[in-house]
Amino acid sequence: MRNPHAGEPFTTSDDEIAVALEDVSIPTLLLSMVHMSGDERILDGPLRPQGLFLNEVQGYMSEEDKAAVRAQAVEIIKDYRDRGCPEPAPVGPALLKKMMAFLVCQEVPDEYVPMMLEEMELDGRDDRAVEARSTDVDVVVIGLGMSGLLAAIRLQEAGIGYTVVEKNAGVGGTWWENSYPGARVDVGNHFYCYSFEPSDHWTEFFAQQPELQAYFQGVMDKHDVAKNVRFSTEVTAATWAGDRWDVVLDTGEVLRAKAVISAVGQLNRPYVPDVPGDFDGSQFHTSRWDHEVDVTGKRVVMVGAGATGFQLAPTIAPQVEHLTVIQRTAQWMFPNPNYHEQVGPGVRWALRHLPFYGRWYRFLIFWPGCDTGLEAARIDPSFADNPTVVSEVNEFTRQMFTDWIVSQVGDDEELRAKVVPSYPPTAKRTLQDNGSWLTCLTRDNVELVRAGVDRLESGAVVDTDGNRHEADVLVWATGFRVNEPLFPLTITGRDGRDLRAEWGDRPAAYLGMTSPGFPNFFMMYGPGTNLASGGSLIFHSECEIRYIVQCLQALDGRTSMEPRQDKHDEWYARCQAELKTLVWSTPHVEHNFYRNADGDVHCLSPWRLVDFWTWTRTPDLSDFVIQ
Ligand code: NAP
Repeated sequence: MRNPHAGEPFTTSDDEIAVALEDVSIPTLLLSMVHMSGDERILDGPLRPQGLFLNEVQGYMSEEDKAAVRAQAVEIIKDYRDRGCPEPAPVGPALLKKMMAFLVCQEVPDEYVPMMLEEMELDGRDDRAVEARSTDVDVVVIGLGMSGLLAAIRLQEAGIGYTVVEKNAGVGGTWWENSYPGARVDVGNHFYCYSFEPSDHWTEFFAQQPELQAYFQGVMDKHDVAKNVRFSTEVTAATWAGDRWDVVLDTGEVLRAKAVISAVGQLNRPYVPDVPGDFDGSQFHTSRWDHEVDVTGKRVVMVGAGATGFQLAPTIAPQVEHLTVIQRTAQWMFPNPNYHEQVGPGVRWALRHLPFYGRWYRFLIFWPGCDTGLEAARIDPSFADNPTVVSEVNEFTRQMFTDWIVSQVGDDEELRAKVVPSYPPTAKRTLQDNGSWLTCLTRDNVELVRAGVDRLESGAVVDTDGNRHEADVLVWATGFRVNEPLFPLTITGRDGRDLRAEWGDRPAAYLGMTSPGFPNFFMMYGPGTNLASGGSLIFHSECEIRYIVQCLQALDGRTSMEPRQDKHDEWYARCQAELKTLVWSTPHVEHNFYRNADGDVHCLSPWRLVDFWTWTRTPDLSDFVIQ
């Protein structure tokens, strides 16, 4: 069978090939040329990427160099086509490493190579799937978002029976619920998709919500998962009954299963602050967007401006009569010129037909955000008292981000004072933009208010400076209950232990997945697994489910497994110690959803992706009490 990533054979005409190459990533094309021609000397020539930055997919190559590559590529592609598009010969490890280094203009350390090769599947093998074995284990999966769907597919492949319970009427989780205008992903889509289900059809580099939801729907259909899903049904509780879980549904039914996988995510339950007073117009949280309400010509107040508000405000501003943005804390952001860009038809052609183009493109988007951000997030103790930066790298970052923000604001001193954050960059979730946010703020019908919310009144919101903002529609862009994972589920383990009560606002799980006292209960995207320094949650989820499926196979013929208390406690202490060395723990930012009331971080992973990948490849069964 042909390697699925070798591209579909084609008969595209010479002229059409030349047109297609106009919008492709030239550094990525160069590697595909190596595959097609077998000519490694391409890697030694002067035509090569000159530098690396997240989402800069042309490697800062000059127009002349890009044109020269296209001219060479047309000849190689024509020859490849005329030879009938044969599957390229496999490439050996030394050459692969050289190709990696070529594309990202730096050596890729040995420890990353196997992880990246697995992610790219250049050999056409999906090594993250766990081989099927007969087992007495069955599972209830809670949630059919990105990780629940992944769990379903992997369980199916491993021959493990499962039922998914999903509270919504369809698949997608976050990408089902967050239908507010402008919702899109901010991790490049050719990476933000399952490694084993790449997609060549994305119409934008950072797809909008309907396209993302359609992707998950397509994957669900392809893997025939829906037959095992209870849609529009909510799990309210799960109780360990000695040898199985009793999973209680809002219909009153109880499902019984040997194991449970929670895939409810960290960003699922909306947070709306408890503000006194009554507002008598329409109001809703962004993740519960009321599509019956037409904001055209209305006065809208948007409370909160994090990742969501940054997308929403520029989208609705041209439509509304007036938009008031009430933002308590300014946000750091960095430039992403491609953020709203369409994927040209040439790119889609290359993804479909040019051998391994899509795989190398995935690597090109993944690598710049792979662990580099973590080192940049480290606090240098000699900067401890500095309220604006935490290290030299952080200072450099501050300068770069500030320059970019200021360059867009021009002479508007008042706006500048409002939009340049005072706290260290990357301490809160860093946003990205193509200029749309600041352009929006300079519109005549948009006002940025840097304050909190004091109270609601009939037809108005009063901010903490006492100013009254009239509104027909009030939108809460105030985020999610991140520090209360699994809310509002009641998970009762051995001896009646209540997981959320035990956690309080210090949730913890061994490797983010299991907790002592809660046998056969696994979490995806659990405590300590959110990513603030790069990567993609899909990558993390793929690591987690491989580990969980192997645990489930180890459970065959046994009653229960749970992590050893000492292992769990040591892990938790290590995570907390590590998190304290990173910028997200800095006390120099007043409000930060990464931190709990005590200022401690529990939602994030402080670990390199390569470490998490290594630790989760195969469970060490001696970490568990197995009965
Ligand atoms: P968020 O980042 O938590 O932002 C919430 C906003 O509400 C902040 O401006 C916050 O102010 C404000 N706020 C919270 N409580 C408030 C209060 N009592 N009074 C006044 N303001 C208050 O939430 P989000 O924007 O929904 O994003 C949440 C997460 O979802 C993101 O971090 C990201 O992981 C994900 N997300 C991703 C994308 C994407 O991929 N493109 C898009 C949207 C969301 P402070 O900053 O002062 O706390």
